[in-house]
Amino acid sequence: MNRMEHAEKLLSLVEEGTSPFHVAASVERQLKKAGFQRLAMGQDWSLENGGRYYLVHNGSSLAAFTIGKRFAFGDTFRIAAAHTDFPGLRVKPSPEMEKDGYRQLNVEVYGGAILNTWLDRPLSAAGRVTLRSGDIFHPEIRYVDFEKPFLTIPNLAIHINKEVNKGVELNRQKELLPVLGLGPSGEEEKAGDFFLEYLARKLRVEKEDILDYELGLYNADAGDFLGMSEEFISSPRLDNLTSVQAVVTGLLEGERERGVNLAAFFDHEEIGSRTKQGAGSVFLSAVAERILLSYGRGREKFLETFADAMLLSVDVGHALHPNYADKNDPTNKNVLGRGICIKEASTQSYATDSEAVAIMQQICEAEGIPYQKFANRSDGTSGSTLGSIASSFYPVKTVDIGVPLLAMHSSRELMGTADQESLARAVTAFYRL
Ligand code: ZN
Repeated sequence: MNRMEHAEKLLSLVEEGTSPFHVAASVERQLKKAGFQRLAMGQDWSLENGGRYYLVHNGSSLAAFTIGKRFAFGDTFRIAAAHTDFPGLRVKPSPEMEKDGYRQLNVEVYGGAILNTWLDRPLSAAGRVTLRSGDIFHPEIRYVDFEKPFLTIPNLAIHINKEVNKGVELNRQKELLPVLGLGPSGEEEKAGDFFLEYLARKLRVEKEDILDYELGLYNADAGDFLGMSEEFISSPRLDNLTSVQAVVTGLLEGERERGVNLAAFFDHEEIGSRTKQGAGSVFLSAVAERILLSYGRGREKFLETFADAMLLSVDVGHALHPNYADKNDPTNKNVLGRGICIKEASTQSYATDSEAVAIMQQICEAEGIPYQKFANRSDGTSGSTLGSIASSFYPVKTVDIGVPLLAMHSSRELMGTADQESLARAVTAFYRL
């Protein structure tokens, strides 16, 4: 694949991946097309050398692996992980609000969103809905994506708030409520269940059958190429679909004769990862252990695999912003388009392990992949990734890499077009070499 093909693949994942469930479903489609077989935790696994497998965990997390054609015990595990979630707004239960002629939805903030970037955008909603079924312990689960934008959070006019350009703090309960319709005139102000009805119509079910849902609002803008030579990609959800797509591509193209290549896609990174489908769960190590158990190897052999295994935590990094260069570390300056970031922080907010970093540098050098080292300014911090958390459950050499990004956690972010190819090639080489 060339540079533009990698970029186009990313943009089609952005279009399909409108909720963590839809990201996992889009990954699943790519894996199935490449001949991966679905497994389930609740079933026996009979794995074979040369096999390609995946399993979905609670809808929004997924693990996939390939076993080398000549896999034998003692071969290494190479693992790459990325997150499927992104900051935004989530719809609460009983969300309908009707006041002063407008219909609105009660929402809450998910993750560290830059709130004002959600104003005046065409918003849509996606996620999963649980429906009544004949079996109490197994409600029917349906995914929904409205696709067409139908909500927006309008700004307050500058004429009414003359101080707006001095900066505005938005109240998370009062000032982020989207409008999605007009109420009937002349009626009493009483919220009906207009959203539930709208959802039921979309799903072609009775509204009484809808029990619950996990629905998020997303920026319905498509991604675009910008710059005089299309050197930028401006798009929603680049954090972290750039990494998800690079890991999928790496797994499909980086097959080894020996060893196991494992990919993990976790939900809930933006809220701290410590959930059953987050990186702070035993999911990843349980999958690795089951691979060996299926080959008739016991727990001792599983623990032995930690010795030479390696984890690549793949997530976006901060690029130097030309308007705020003084916010950047004075000696580590990451610029869009100049290659992937290898992130280091002595606080371990990024998994910092000089052995793993050195391996990554040698992979990049062997393949001619540009890279830049990232470090925070000493008087500021800049977030964390799932690397350190995942490696506390699967304690192996770990390194944090990803594309540099501007406007991280805005409803629309900016990256260098060339960096997607660099990241996909780096993950592919990590699996293949
Ligand atoms: Zn991220």
